[in-house]
Amino acid sequence: MAKAMGKSKRLFDKALTLMPGGVNSPVRACKHVGGTPLFIEGGAGSRIMDADGNSYVDFCQSWGPLILGHAFPQVVEAVTRAARGGLSYGTCHKGETELAELVLSGFKGFQRARFMSSGTEAVMTALRIARGVTKRDLVIKFEGGYHGHYDGMLVKAGSGLATLGIASSAGVPKDIARTTLVAPLDDEEAIESLFKRHGNRIAAVIIEPLPANNGLLVQRREFLEFLRKITQQFGAILIFDEVISGFRLRFGGYGQEVGIEPDLVTLGKVIGGGMPIGAVIGKAETMDWLSPVGPVYQAGTLSGNPVSLAAGIATLKVLKTEPVYEKLEALGQLLETNLSKSGLSFARIQRVGSIVWPYFDEGAFPRRTETISLRAVERFKKIYWTLIEEGYYFPPSAYEVLFISYAHSRDEISGLAESITKSLLQTSGDRIKDAK
Ligand code: PMP
Repeated sequence: MAKAMGKSKRLFDKALTLMPGGVNSPVRACKHVGGTPLFIEGGAGSRIMDADGNSYVDFCQSWGPLILGHAFPQVVEAVTRAARGGLSYGTCHKGETELAELVLSGFKGFQRARFMSSGTEAVMTALRIARGVTKRDLVIKFEGGYHGHYDGMLVKAGSGLATLGIASSAGVPKDIARTTLVAPLDDEEAIESLFKRHGNRIAAVIIEPLPANNGLLVQRREFLEFLRKITQQFGAILIFDEVISGFRLRFGGYGQEVGIEPDLVTLGKVIGGGMPIGAVIGKAETMDWLSPVGPVYQAGTLSGNPVSLAAGIATLKVLKTEPVYEKLEALGQLLETNLSKSGLSFARIQRVGSIVWPYFDEGAFPRRTETISLRAVERFKKIYWTLIEEGYYFPPSAYEVLFISYAHSRDEISGLAESITKSLLQTSGDRIKDAK
């Protein structure tokens, strides 16, 4: 019997009359997969509950922050204690030093952190530091990389490789879009040609070292190393945007995973344990360009908010003391293994640790946006609501990754693999002849 969704539908109808598209962040509107968004009323561990009383195993986990799952006891306790002591002071407090120490203990080469309230702000600040330090204006970003909704990052490639960017959103001034150069991922030559042409004007290269916003486009280590070398050669700043990957795969960043140290790292999500947060970290010599030491301005009424930081501190302490990453890796492997036993050659995921991208096609996993299989996208869309019916909640887009949390169980992962297989068979029109 189909799940009741009437209450969610009514709530969304009302939301539509009050907020553009009924949402406060566009992908939540479910346009990509169609249908009406679920209204969630509670989360506990691996599960979320909707307004109609349905419960789902949640693989969105608030788009990544909830590495420990919903309402993890130590995190809730820390937040409650902090809230009782006052929601915000707008002054210095001990939590700032504590979280800075914890975060920096994961990045041995770095000595400074600055906290703000979102990943977007972190990116905005990192780019401003880079421009301040280098006294240059241009920034290189990559097609398919997402770095928040800062003007200069809402830019796509103009025609031809070595041209300046054009806005991908209305309201971004042309002159700002033109300060962003957009390059394809996985392409040393494209970067080389941009540096040849604009090298003395390039302040920074910004990349998600593990691009996870347009599928999971795992890069070759050599490509990241090349970016490190060429930025050094031309005196540009290399920014690793680790808002998703930071503390998600290990206690630290993906940069350490591949042995490459950028100049600045942007963080968010996991370091706030589900509360609003963003951070820029780096060496003292670079970070001390920030006001009040240096001339690069950055500020925030709620920056370093004690309740957010309490959630972050509690989360990082658990990550430091419990075998979280080991469990996440084991669960990720289980999902892979069970899908591979399904007999369906295209029932696959691309995965790094607990970051999982359903990629329902055969062949090599893509490293660039344009090689993403549209067949895989269509298959995802077709099974999305079937999986919801089966009790598994995914981010509503084929281009988004899933997150496994510490709270997920082996049974839930096995159940997911079974439901994916069953749904692919039922809904994709691919018959068993497609099976291995
Ligand atoms: N950078 C990356 C890599 C992200 O994935 C995101 C958000 N998904 C951001 C920046 C922006 O973070 P926020 O949504 O907190 O502004």
